[in-house]
Amino acid sequence: MGYDVTWFVTEPPEQYKCAICTDVFCDPVTTRCGHTYCRACITEWLSTTRQCPECRDPIAAHDISNVPVAFKQLVNALQVTCPEEGCGDIMALDALDKHREKCVTEKRPCPQCHSELFKREMAQHNCIQHLKAIIEERNQHLKEVTAVKDKRIAGLEEELRLEKIKATEARNQLMKSIHAAVEAENQKTEVWKADLKAEVQEGAGAVSEL
Ligand SMILES: [Zn+2]
Ligand SMILES: [Zn+2]
Ligand SMILES: [Zn+2]
Ligand SMILES: [Zn+2]
Repeated sequence: MGYDVTWFVTEPPEQYKCAICTDVFCDPVTTRCGHTYCRACITEWLSTTRQCPECRDPIAAHDISNVPVAFKQLVNALQVTCPEEGCGDIMALDALDKHREKCVTEKRPCPQCHSELFKREMAQHNCIQHLKAIIEERNQHLKEVTAVKDKRIAGLEEELRLEKIKATEARNQLMKSIHAAVEAENQKTEVWKADLKAEVQEGAGAVSEL
């Protein structure tokens, strides 16, 4: 639960290592018997054993106190290399935890192509391949958008075709009605003409009788 010894720029002194986890102290505390451990390590140890792991003195949770500030400062000043993939930044131990949080979540621009990348992506990053992938992704998106539009256009065309058929049918119906009306009118005229003719002939007959 401490800091891995391999992260340190120079081999850390033995007095900075926790006997439980064998790593460099993380939040060190000291026991009544004077032994120092990571807070998390000794707390977990005491949940099952009531003895100091080093000298076997009987101890309990209340026998644990903070280490002197000066000791903490010595540990915190040790230089470590960030263990995150593709990083390699060197800093004092007390800056490591905060740095690692950002280190894995923050992106930074590639100095060549300015693509935003995680540090872990930097090692395998190839500008041309990366940009190609971006272009391919955009092309794919464009294809999808075009396909949707084409489908909508096809739908509208079909609607228009059906509207045209309806309009043609309506026009044909109207023409039929007009023809029928004209036909009826013509027939009426024919009847009227025949009547008139008969009347005229009747009149003529009457005149010749005189
Ligand atoms: Zn420890
Ligand atoms: Zn002890
Ligand atoms: Zn880092
Ligand atoms: Zn690049």
